[in-house]
Amino acid sequence: MLDYDLHCHSTVSDGLLSPTDLVARAAERGVKVLALTDHDDISGLAEASAAATQHGMQFINGVEISATWRNYTLHIIGLHIDPAYKPLAEGLHNIRSGRGARAQLMADSLAKSGISGALEGAYQYADNQGIIGRTHFARFLVEKGYCKDVRSVFKNYLVKDKPGYVAHQWASLPDAVSWICGSGGVAVLAHPGRYTLARKGMGQKTLRELLREFIDIGGQGIEVVCGSHTPEQYAEFARYANEFNLLASCGSDFHGPGESYRDLGRLPDFPLDCRPVWLAWEADPSMSSETKPIKQREAERVNR
Ligand code: AMP
Ligand code: MN
Ligand code: MN
Ligand code: MN
Repeated sequence: MLDYDLHCHSTVSDGLLSPTDLVARAAERGVKVLALTDHDDISGLAEASAAATQHGMQFINGVEISATWRNYTLHIIGLHIDPAYKPLAEGLHNIRSGRGARAQLMADSLAKSGISGALEGAYQYADNQGIIGRTHFARFLVEKGYCKDVRSVFKNYLVKDKPGYVAHQWASLPDAVSWICGSGGVAVLAHPGRYTLARKGMGQKTLRELLREFIDIGGQGIEVVCGSHTPEQYAEFARYANEFNLLASCGSDFHGPGESYRDLGRLPDFPLDCRPVWLAWEADPSMSSETKPIKQREAERVNR
């Protein structure tokens, strides 16, 4: 089992627990190294880091950035980022600023299907109003009895061709990766299995083009073991990690008790012989230059 959990959400984005309570739950459940990766917002990191110190747990500053590549929405995880890096903070601020207008359009779309009051209803669930998103709408739809749980909402609402879906332009992929790498972090493609789903997802050829482009602009990792992957997908994406020489990451993508595919806690080991993403930051004298964060490589190049 891996005692790293490098992907989860707090009330700073669409999770149900405060950063402090999230860290406490992770500690109780045996996590030794935790990254908080809220969507497009890093304002929970200081609180989570302080809580992790209380629990004797190692904490990694993280973020999950919403990005648009071709017609796809992708999530790029930044690990070991520096929250004080201005282009990152400013870039995230800019992405967040589009969420309010998007929420209004989502509510308008739901209203056309006879569901009224969704905007106010969704905001009731958003602790951090600036990050209003689909999960908050999903909780409102469950409350009103349209669906039995948040997961089933995403089968009938808020996704392409269903009520409440609104296309949105997020950060460009090069911007998202450069904010992460520029801050000294490692950019990881989150839950790739979600992008290849069924008929609306990308095919293998497109996924390979994405991976090549992602690596060209500085991406270093791919989620292999994560909450939204099946064990078959652990193996599938471990093969991609090896083929593309990417570091493998793992995380529950926990949002709240009873709401997520996987709870915080220990995750199954990587299949095959993956190079884990923490090689990029853990002090390891054998760390090869290709696994070092870009900022470090650039500094070394300059010093040479
Ligand atoms: P947004 O950033 O507003 O587009 O919201 C994205 C969030 O919606 C994701 O981070 C998940 O929390 C949630 N979500 C998207 N698809 C699903 C799904 N199929 N099942 C459960 N939650 C989902
Ligand atoms: Mn989420
Ligand atoms: Mn995601
Ligand atoms: Mn997530």
